Amino acid sequence: MAVLPILQFEDKIAETVAENPVVVIIGETGSGKSTQLSQILHRRGYTRSGAIAVTQPRRVAAVTVARRVAFELGSRLGEEVGYAIRFEDRTSDKTCIKYLTDGCLLRESLSNPELNQYSVIILDEAHERSLNTDILLGLMKRLINRRSSNLKVLITSATLDGVKVSRFFSGCSVLNVPGTLFPVEKLYSTERPTNYVECCLKTALDVHVREPPGDVLIFMTGQDDIDKMVFKLEERIQNLEEGSCMDAIVFPLHGSLPPELQIRVFSPAPPNCRRFIVATNIAETSLTVDGIVYVIDSGFVKQRQYNPSTGMYSLDIVQISRVQADQRAGRAGRTCPGKCYRLYPRTVYDEEFLDATIPEIQRSSLAGSVLYLKSLSLSDIDILKFDFLDPPSRESLEDALRQLYLIDAIDENGQITEIGKAMAELPLEPSLARTLIEANELGCLSQALTVTSMLSAEVAIRPTHSKNKEKKRKQSFSKLPDGSGWGDHIQLLQVYESWDRADYDPNWCTDNELQVRSMTFSKDVRKQLSQIVQKIGKGSLDVESGMRQKKSDKDYKKLRRALCRGYGNQLAERMLHHNGYHTLGYRSQLVQVHPSSVLEADEDGQLPDYVVYHELINTSRPFMRNVCAVEISWVQPILKKLEKMNIDKLSGGSGASENTETIENKTINSPMQAVDASGTPGS
Ligand code: ADP
Repeated sequence: MAVLPILQFEDKIAETVAENPVVVIIGETGSGKSTQLSQILHRRGYTRSGAIAVTQPRRVAAVTVARRVAFELGSRLGEEVGYAIRFEDRTSDKTCIKYLTDGCLLRESLSNPELNQYSVIILDEAHERSLNTDILLGLMKRLINRRSSNLKVLITSATLDGVKVSRFFSGCSVLNVPGTLFPVEKLYSTERPTNYVECCLKTALDVHVREPPGDVLIFMTGQDDIDKMVFKLEERIQNLEEGSCMDAIVFPLHGSLPPELQIRVFSPAPPNCRRFIVATNIAETSLTVDGIVYVIDSGFVKQRQYNPSTGMYSLDIVQISRVQADQRAGRAGRTCPGKCYRLYPRTVYDEEFLDATIPEIQRSSLAGSVLYLKSLSLSDIDILKFDFLDPPSRESLEDALRQLYLIDAIDENGQITEIGKAMAELPLEPSLARTLIEANELGCLSQALTVTSMLSAEVAIRPTHSKNKEKKRKQSFSKLPDGSGWGDHIQLLQVYESWDRADYDPNWCTDNELQVRSMTFSKDVRKQLSQIVQKIGKGSLDVESGMRQKKSDKDYKKLRRALCRGYGNQLAERMLHHNGYHTLGYRSQLVQVHPSSVLEADEDGQLPDYVVYHELINTSRPFMRNVCAVEISWVQPILKKLEKMNIDKLSGGSGASENTETIENKTINSPMQAVDASGTPGS
């Protein structure tokens, strides 16, 4: 096999890194950036003074690339080469090359802001412009000034605008590694198809029947369409009237596929067989699949978008950018000349596609990121002036500050509180971190850990296909002796507890139409979270009292109260004479409970007056997903905070307040005392 382009430039790379603290390396996908750069620097002795960290925006990539590098070095995964992703750490004292998600590195910088354990930090796949990579870029810029003598920072990318990044790092060196891409013929459709799945299918079959050997990579938008496509393609290939002289195998490839199924795409096709790989944009740059000669590009991608003025997420299918289209086409030319079938007209590519994808930082909720930055206790950080490669909007930063204030992570002057510091240490989104802290105070930590783990593992309780089964399941989960129908969080807890009582039997999951894999993952997450909570409990969390909680405790009231505190900025009030809700807070809008929710109406057919929700999503209408009933007396203190909120003070940056301590105490204690004193009548 040909030598990877990166390896042909080994000496040049080593020389440039030796002479410069920051180097940008641009090389096309598959040139060997992820797998080889760490090994080159390892060979050149950089691991003598510290480890090499390589960040990846995706968990899948961190795991598969670490595996690959361990294999290439002939070592066992977790020893010389390891990986760390949220809720999973496969490293040891011996680890000198560590692949980790960008979120994990950010988290490590909390406990060790100088990141002294590393001699080299490689921010890989920077072109993906993930939220965490963008924040790390800003932090690296600061760090390199302090550690210029013993730290090397490499930023690698397939498509990134090298000049822009170089300018950001005060004109650092940029190395372009020329690739060996073969020409790719681009074939455009005359018009946009009305049904893109059908159109992909037809094109794939045409290729199979008419074109010479070579694997086919099909870019679709998400798992559902991929599954549909895999099924239809397999079926149609079997029943082809006009046969192909080759066999065919079809593989799906997306982020939620179990690792053992993902790595199948790295094995070459058997003799006289064509592989079809039906993938999301994960195959654009993150994972390089060899042997592709034909690419079918739908021209679409699924993108999560946050709107700070409504607090709502939408998962939209949007047009790809020109950079993405070129990346996709490039996948066809790695081994020989290839063809890319673009299922859109040339004019769409030229006139409608954006130049580049909008970075995640400009389309995400920033509450978690702002909390990290605040907790790094960099005295000169003013969030609104932080040095971002592409700054987010002021509206979105202010939205983050408001959210953090309402859940007590920052005080009214924008200073991080003790609660905020404890929250930042938990690898969870702010609302769930706040819930755990409150649950600890209230003595229901064990239950809250379960709910949080189930939400973090994204356990989906899908409606079963059989009505009887559904009825039975609803009865067993939601209608337990205390008559609770409090909503989805409580159901998640009950599901987990039932599984616990069944001794974590996988058959129990199958019987209840739950995915064994996600339930097992939630169990792992719970274990990890408990350990983290125990560890940080020394300072601010009273882990023991929560941990001693009896499993049979069916009093969900405390848990609901903790959830109310955690989701203090995600509250909704039922509208009079109506089962719709409007959100409470600095932005109000009409929303409905998602149809999948198990929240129940009372005997009069009325839903609870107040609820908290895990997220707002905009599908056909604005919906609250994962809803829990709460009580007015818990909501009131939050509304009082809302009245006092002043965004000018909140965004005042650091150093604004000299009496932080008193304000912190007030923020932490008084609302809780108020709730305690008023009691919680009526339930
Ligand atoms: P880049 O980061 O520049 O996109 P990589 O280092 O990921 O490149 O890939 C370099 C080569 O190694 C590619 O040919 C790719 O197919 C191969 N490769 C990467 N990961 C694996 C793996 N897990 N198994 C087999 N081959 C792999």
